[in-house]
This record gives sequence, structure tokens and C-alpha cells, in this order.
Amino acid sequence: MGKIQTLPPLVSDLIAAGEVVERPAAAAKELIENAIDAGATIVITEIARGGTALLRVTDDGAGMSPDDAQRAFLRHATSKIRTAEDLRAIKTLGFRGEALAAISAVSRVTLTTREVSAEMGTAVEIEGGTVIDTHEAGCPAGTTIVIRDLFFNTPARQKFLKKDNTEAAQVQGVVVRAAQSRPDISFVFIADGREVLRTPGSGDLLDCLRNLWGRDAAKTVMKLSSGREGCTLSGYAGKPELTRGSRNQQNFFVNGRPIRSGALSTALENAFKHSVTVGRYPVCSLHVKMPEELYDVNVHPSKLEVKFVYERTMYELVYAAARDALMGDLPAPEYVPAALPVAPPKAEPAEYKPAAQTGPAPVSYAQTQMGVVAMESPKEETAPRMKTAETPQIAEPYRYVGEVLGGYLIVEQGDAILLIDKHAAHERFLFDRLKANAGAPMEQTLITPVIVKLAAEDCDILGENEELLHSFGLSVDLFGANSLAVRSLPDGVAADDAAALLSELAERLRSSRADDRRDAVLQGVACKAAVKVGRRFSAEEALQVVRWVMEDGIRNCPHGRPVAVKLPLSEIARRFLR
Ligand code: ADP
Ligand code: MG
Repeated sequence: MGKIQTLPPLVSDLIAAGEVVERPAAAAKELIENAIDAGATIVITEIARGGTALLRVTDDGAGMSPDDAQRAFLRHATSKIRTAEDLRAIKTLGFRGEALAAISAVSRVTLTTREVSAEMGTAVEIEGGTVIDTHEAGCPAGTTIVIRDLFFNTPARQKFLKKDNTEAAQVQGVVVRAAQSRPDISFVFIADGREVLRTPGSGDLLDCLRNLWGRDAAKTVMKLSSGREGCTLSGYAGKPELTRGSRNQQNFFVNGRPIRSGALSTALENAFKHSVTVGRYPVCSLHVKMPEELYDVNVHPSKLEVKFVYERTMYELVYAAARDALMGDLPAPEYVPAALPVAPPKAEPAEYKPAAQTGPAPVSYAQTQMGVVAMESPKEETAPRMKTAETPQIAEPYRYVGEVLGGYLIVEQGDAILLIDKHAAHERFLFDRLKANAGAPMEQTLITPVIVKLAAEDCDILGENEELLHSFGLSVDLFGANSLAVRSLPDGVAADDAAALLSELAERLRSSRADDRRDAVLQGVACKAAVKVGRRFSAEEALQVVRWVMEDGIRNCPHGRPVAVKLPLSEIARRFLR
């Protein structure tokens, strides 16, 4: 007799269950997907104690016949595909016929279901994979599945479960993604007897997001759309001011299936690269519609990942849509209501000079003076500039008008005026340049070292990060107990600013995690190297800042403050009561 034997079904079901239902949220995902596949218009998910004590999903979908109600729990029993050919273009969320078998192997399940046309419904009770009772039952059309005591017979799995709150949050995450995947279905989530969320099921994604993300967040989104090679993308992404500290709120859907995708997240983040602060992540709810043949969902046990045939196309779809939306979304300035007296702008009087007097006027300015509205196109750059490696961006034509109030640059583009904050823009520029050049520092050696007095703990932390600082062109040596000798400074930082730079860097280093230190130093240096509002740029320098903002789509300084605000003609006309 050989040693190899086929496992009894119960054991193989337990093994399969380990893959399909690793925690309550995974079971919830399968049940909700079944409800969606059954054509439900409302799906109610209820849990008690994180889903381990109770998980109930109720739908008003097609329901099951008495026979199907029992067959549903067999392994590889599915109504959704029949042939290998069907696997190539899966149109339903489920297709493996494994979920109910797996869930029922590790819990106590009660299924109640009725087809709309049937007089009576069916109730099936299953415990640890064995049917223990079936009977007729009066019940509404649709299906209710109750899962009790999940993992009661797999103590090893129980040990891996987190606190009830954590498991509940995971289940909620599943409902939140399902709700976005189908704005036409109303989703309700109830935890420990309390209704946590309810989407309207109106079919409008924004209605749905308003419920899931909150009213304020839903006001701070941009509509995205793009199309490429038979694939279309639509949905919403948060404006740069609506970001998160993690990728948790990046929601991608392919033909209504929630998926995780490194390529799509990277595309989104690359598009937002210049617009958000370091360590913040854009949020989105983006839906791709594409031929089923162009991706494979059969690559992940919980069907969370898909394999795209043309990954590059998918990347471009997201990148282009996000980039276009960001370009069109310069924040509008806030207005004092017209009925109130308008406060005069705050300005250093000495700084105020008409733009034409600030040096050689840019060509386009002169042309306008003669009545020609010159729409200047992007030209060769003399200043160093950071181009994103991806799709080159052709800016809409624009015209630089001049500088006002000692720090703001005015640009005309389309039927709007843009005001650029020179200081913020320059800071972002230096930040990106320093980042690109880190390792090959542009340093200025000081002829006589500058001695800076600092708190002892500031000296300590700067000393500990000596190498990091040095990579930005900043060399310091301990000089007595509470002082540092600064021998070289990053290019662009004035010797007078050395003390301020060092205490700022100490502060930033102290408050950042190890892997964020490089960016923390970058920000600190860029901030000090950037011009202060008030220092005049030559007209040529100002024009360079303008080009850089307009053509590279820079939207925020490294701290996340906007670099430009938009004043549309419609607003101007409104102010003149036209
Ligand atoms: P799959 O979804 O991969 O087909 P499942 O084990 O999740 O496998 O479900 C098995 C079958 O049970 C489904 O194919 C479907 O016919 C039926 N079923 C499960 N849940 C429901 C439901 N909520 N409403 C109607 N039918 C259902
Ligand atoms: Mg299923």
C-alpha cells in the first residue's frame, strides 16, 4: 500500500477555507459578491463582535430554488460558469463555486432563500460543512445568509484574528468598496446593532461618496475621465488638499470588481507627485470599463488582484485622467462678498511697482501693450527644471503679465487669470531640484566657518545625521558643548540663515520617522533657500518660475500650500456686476 491518499472532502474544504476565508471580512466579501451577482438592489450586512459571533448578509436578489439552496454549499458548485471557455471572460464577481463551501466548513450557517416566483422559501442549516436540517420557510424574496461562530472548529485561525474593532473595520472596508463598485445598489452596514452606513443606490457615484467619505470630502473631489484602446476610466479623485496618510482610500474597480493594483496606484501618485506633500497619498474612486478578455481575475484566492494584458495602457489611463484633472483644477481664490467693503490688499508700499518697471519686460508683455494678445507657447528653458519622466505635458497657451505686490506673478490663460505665489513656487522648485541632485550636492564652502549656538539636543540630532546633512551640502562640526561650526551650506542658503536652518532641521529631524528624514531635510533646506516674498526677482527669473509652474503643473509647495490660484473671467465679470 502506498502512503498517498486522497483527503476526505471535509479536510480539503478546511484547507480551501483557509485560503478563501482568512478573516470575517473575507467571508463578508464573498457573501456580498453573491448578493450582487444575484441582482440585488439592496444589500444589508450586519455583524456582531467584529463578525466572529455573527455575520448576516441579506439581499433582495434572485433567490434560490430548494435544490439549489443545498447544492450551493458543495465544493465547485456554481451557477456562474460552465466551461473552460467561460473562464476567459468572467462577467460575474464569483465563478469558483468555493465560497459557500469554504465558509460553511468553518462556521454554523443558516441560509433562507426564496425565488420571487416561488410561494414558499427554503431554509438550510449547515454546521462544519454538514447539512443538519432543511425545511420550507416563509420568507421574503431574496436571500439571507447567517454565519455564526466563524472559525469555531479551527482554533488556530481564531488566534490570528485581531481585536473585534479591527475586524469590524475590515468588514466595513469591504462594504465601502462594494458600495463604490455599484452606486446603483443601496448598501447598509450595521455593526453591533448600530447602523454605520447606508448608501442611496441612486446610481450616482458622487451621491455614494458623499455617504461614504462625508459631505466635505465629497466637495473636495475632481471628476476624472479618460479613454484608451477600448478601455475607459471614470470616477473621482480627491483634490490635492484631500489626501490621506496611507493608500487606504485608493479605490480601483475593473468592470465593477474592486481590485488592488500597484500599477494604478503608482500612476495616480505620479500624476499627483508635484501636488501633494511628502508622505500624503491621493484618494480616489476610479472605475475602469474594459473587455473581460484583457485581464485575468483568476490569479488571487480572494480575486483581489487581476493581471492586465496591457499594464502600460492601464497606467496611462489613470495617469492621463489624473493629470488632466489636476491641470484644470487650480484652486479659485476666495472672495469678500461684493456687498461688504473690500479691504485694500496688504503690501509693503516700498515693494509696489508696476510690473513694467521691474526690468526687461518679457516679449509677450510688450506685444500686449500693442493690443496683440500674444498666447505664448512653451519655449526652450534656460532654468533647470524637473520633468516628470512620464507623458510630457503640453501646457495650454498662456501669457505672463508681470509681478505685483512684491511676490505675486500674474498669468493670463484661457479665460482666467492665475496668480502665482513666487515664494511657494520657488520653494517647490528648489525642493525638486535638491531631491534630484541629492548625493551630488551643490554646496558653497564658507571662507570662515559660521558658529551657531544651539540647544544641546539640537546639536545631538544634527550630529547623528551628519552624513545625511552632508549629502545636501551642509557640513557641520561640533564646536564646544552647545555650538556647531558650519563649514559649508547648501547652494542658495545665505550664511545669515545658517542658524535658522540648523534649528529648523533639528526640529524636522526630531519629528520624522527614520525613512522620512531625507525628505524632512529636503523640505527644510528648500524652505530656507527659497526667496522670501519681497525679494525681487529679475523679470527673467520670474518668467522662469512662471514657465515652470505652467508647464510642469506644479500645484503645491512642499508643505502643501497652493502655488497658484485661479481667477476665472466669470468671477471677474460677476464682481463688476456684468
Ligand atoms: P460562486 O459565487 O463562485 O458561484 P459560491 O459558493 O459563492 O460560488 O456560491 C455558489 C452558488 O450559490 C452561486 O453560483 C449561486 O448560484 C448561489 N448563490 C450564492 N449566494 C447567493 C445569493 N445571495 N443569491 C442567489 N444565489 C446565490
Ligand atoms: Mg460567490
